Amino acid sequence: MPAEREFELAAPPAPKRTRVRRGGWSWGPVEGAKLRVLSLGAGVQSTTLALMAAHGLIGPMPDCAIFADTGAEPAPVYDQLAWLQSGQLGLPFPIHVVSAGSIKREIIDAAAGLNGASGRPPFFVKSGKGRLGQINRQCTQDYKIDPIRKKQRDLLGFRPRQRIPDAQVEVWIGISTDETVRAGSSWDNWSVNRYPLLEKGMSRTDCERWLSIHGYPVPMKSACTFCPYRTDREWRHMRDHDPEAWKEAVAIDAMVRDMHRHGKIRGELFVHRSGVPLDEVDLRTDEEAGQGLLMVCEAGCGL
Ligand code: SF4
Repeated sequence: MPAEREFELAAPPAPKRTRVRRGGWSWGPVEGAKLRVLSLGAGVQSTTLALMAAHGLIGPMPDCAIFADTGAEPAPVYDQLAWLQSGQLGLPFPIHVVSAGSIKREIIDAAAGLNGASGRPPFFVKSGKGRLGQINRQCTQDYKIDPIRKKQRDLLGFRPRQRIPDAQVEVWIGISTDETVRAGSSWDNWSVNRYPLLEKGMSRTDCERWLSIHGYPVPMKSACTFCPYRTDREWRHMRDHDPEAWKEAVAIDAMVRDMHRHGKIRGELFVHRSGVPLDEVDLRTDEEAGQGLLMVCEAGCGL
């Protein structure tokens, strides 16, 4: 087998068509948009966007926020969502929670050989020859982008596959100046991405400062407990501050190890980039290999 093919899925699902970004992005409000949506991950940046809108500092006011629930966020993220949804803040727009199911359940079932899918988080894979790679990510598309896109279509009043005119939806995404690499055009021609934090020149630190100055708690990053994009610092923070999430991540890590037995993947899977069981990784240093959660889903994770 050629070396570069060692990490491929044994039977990857054939894409129906090449995915291209058909929509655009906008610096400032999208003229004529019928719907303005905040993509809410309930992390620092999207929480800042929601509250700045409520303070009248960014506009026009979104019609709603949409939170895509993967079923695998740490408890503090769900607490943050509940806080945002509670009447005490008086957010002037509703928060819709959408879900394509539980990615955690799908992984558990796949590890037990009960289904043909694995949710495809970008787990690290170690081949029989000890080479490390990373499997392609499918989770963002399935658990974030698609449910949010479906909700937007519903809110516009269009049926599945019915053609929607161009630029009908303005989508606010909470990307700050320290992660501009994540900003991009929309996947659909009927929606346009907008990055209000970039417009205001705000970094993640600026967001944290703004929240603190206004008396709001600073939330943690949102991401599935077992998301392999975490840096060592982020893993260590989870281990030391959220033992329940850490326990879950360690359990999922052990569970996926032999998923290849069910013929899906050639190699052992790991949530940590070192290819070592998570609870055995030396997390004492601040080694930050790769981009960490900067590379996480654009549709809400980590925002
Ligand atoms: S947080 Fe990580 S595992 Fe979860 S959907 Fe996003 S990329 Fe996938």
